[in-house]
Amino acid sequence: MTKEHSTGRLRAETVCVGAGRTPMRVGEPLNVPLIMASNFRAGHAGEYARDDGTATWAALEAAVGALEGGSALAFASGMGATAAIADLLPPGARVVVPRDSYIAMRVLFDEAGRWEVRTVDITDTEATLAAAAGADLLWLESPTNPLLDVADLPALCKGARAAGVRVVVDNTFATPLLQRPLELGADVVMHSATKFIGGHSDLLLGLTVTADPDLYKRLRRRRELAGATPGGLEVFLALRGLRTMPVRLRQGERSAAALAQRLHEHPQVARVRYPGLPTDPGHARAAAQMDGFGAVLSFEVHGGAARADAVCEAVRVITSATSLGGVESTIERRAKLPRQEHVPPSLLRFSVGCEHLDDLWSDLEAALAATA
Ligand SMILES: *Cc1c(COP(=O)(O)O)cnc(C)c1O
Repeated sequence: MTKEHSTGRLRAETVCVGAGRTPMRVGEPLNVPLIMASNFRAGHAGEYARDDGTATWAALEAAVGALEGGSALAFASGMGATAAIADLLPPGARVVVPRDSYIAMRVLFDEAGRWEVRTVDITDTEATLAAAAGADLLWLESPTNPLLDVADLPALCKGARAAGVRVVVDNTFATPLLQRPLELGADVVMHSATKFIGGHSDLLLGLTVTADPDLYKRLRRRRELAGATPGGLEVFLALRGLRTMPVRLRQGERSAAALAQRLHEHPQVARVRYPGLPTDPGHARAAAQMDGFGAVLSFEVHGGAARADAVCEAVRVITSATSLGGVESTIERRAKLPRQEHVPPSLLRFSVGCEHLDDLWSDLEAALAATA
């Protein structure tokens, strides 16, 4: 983005392509170089990477900060970012977390043994705010992993703020292209950039974003002292991934919408969860607070856990794998993991990638037929 030629507020697609590039003088590279250095010549701000980062980190942080409307910090993983946020809480703090959510986050809060953790159904706004009264932190995730629950983010952020409760939103599924929680009233946004931002299943990376200068300083301090710093190559690749994220995500989203509808009509499918389906309980909320419904859906097959496992083994275009948000479609039976008692046994989480829709549908149809 050049400074001289301002076109007002740029759209997210344009920011993804242009943000975090250095001003271009004749002959300079278009991309911020991959800096592989921990140590820098003394006498200048930024002498050691764990304290000050590098220009490569700064480029990714500038881009994600611009997208979310705050200041971003890159961490070694989504969990590294989560741990840094958790570390800001004093001992004995009360934390409210969604029952359906990324499981390692809940385990982290529980196993630390330092905080009082309460679990809520975040689709129930009243119950969530009641549980959050007097708490120190309300952790939200929307849409959730793996049930695709949608929280009323504006109402929850407003209610929490009025009660003096900090709100963090895990924005991994939506990405800043589809949802900007800081604008909806959240204090901190957390990302697993391992997923859609990176987009190629070739890196681990996390991000925090906040518009609160004090929170930013404290999170930066946690990164510096706890050392959950990102690798240079990972940061470089994440920024490269971000450049094409809108194209990848929109492609996956178009296919996800079509597949959700076809699965919804399939006789072997008991239930589909996708906020883009007009019949989905989260549809109205998602339509109000998001700019799209994303590329992840979940569905339950008839025939229980064994049938669902068989579908994962039978697919050929889609890959049986745990992570999501890559160019390749992945499928997983989530209830096979620990602490997923609330997840229906036959529920398959399906991250829709960039393959052709017809190939994905043929693959699913064949897998459902072969396991009938
Ligand atoms: C993967 C994921 C995380 C954790 O991120 P890592 O990069 O694996 O540490 C957190 N939240 C959600 C929603 C995720 O999908």
